[in-house]
Amino acid sequence: MSDAEQASLLECEECLQPAEAFAVVGNETRLAILEALWAAPERPVSFSDLRSRVGMADSAQFNYHLQKLTGQFVAKTDDGYDFRSPGRAVIQAVLSGSLNRDPELEPFAVEGGCIDCGAGLEARYGDERIRVVCPDCGRGHADWDFPPGGLEDRSPGEVMDAFNQRVRHLLCLSADGVCPDCNGRMETTVDYADSDADSTVEVRHWCRRCENETDTTIGISLLDDAEVVSFYRDHGVDLNAVPFWTLPWCVADDDTTVLDDDPWRFQVDVELDDERLEVVLDEELAVVDAERRTVADD
Ligand SMILES: [Zn+2]
Ligand SMILES: [Zn+2]
Repeated sequence: MSDAEQASLLECEECLQPAEAFAVVGNETRLAILEALWAAPERPVSFSDLRSRVGMADSAQFNYHLQKLTGQFVAKTDDGYDFRSPGRAVIQAVLSGSLNRDPELEPFAVEGGCIDCGAGLEARYGDERIRVVCPDCGRGHADWDFPPGGLEDRSPGEVMDAFNQRVRHLLCLSADGVCPDCNGRMETTVDYADSDADSTVEVRHWCRRCENETDTTIGISLLDDAEVVSFYRDHGVDLNAVPFWTLPWCVADDDTTVLDDDPWRFQVDVELDDERLEVVLDEELAVVDAERRTVADD
């Protein structure tokens, strides 16, 4: 399929234009209807039940607003009203907190020590991102977006658990070529980083549709690799439960060696107890070799 043909998939004569769609939901009563639908214990919800949940006495007024939503955002069935996925997306956008909240948090201590100076790490929240940094030397250990809705009903420890899982999922999607933001096509490239960057080689995930861009280390792509996961398991550690920012081979490239740059070949050394796993990756960041050695060998 050519690029032109692909682009035409998005052109749609009968589609609601984005501005019209926003105009339809840009109304307190209609948002209240979507929220009531969301909060209902069961869907579909009957007209009268939905009206009483919204708390609107005027049936004609209520019906007017409900009809505006019906079709694009809400589906009418024989048993009442239910979401269509755009209606669900509106509520999810509201719940994520990105539309109307910009919370600031006091920095709080998190698990792990600085890979440079050993000081305890702290998390800082701002601009919808969580950054894990060393308060002593300023070394960054993680920096990813985290919509403010994720702060609700969570203790600092639970926020960081959620952050750990979220980043892993974002990475998996990106590495598999799917943009976590817009679902568009994501490209992954590897190249030497700028001279002022912390790492000498970096991985760039870039979405050609929404231009979402994420730069990572080589090592972090191994978080869900079977060889690495079983290496940790054999040492009694569930890698999935380990905060990724505490793993030196994820955070920095000190444990990464460039074996070749045409084509790219990398080796990442993962050390646990008295054993080292030497993982070799190709330019696609696929693992092509993995060997275990006892550290005393050297
Ligand atoms: Zn430090
Ligand atoms: Zn995108």
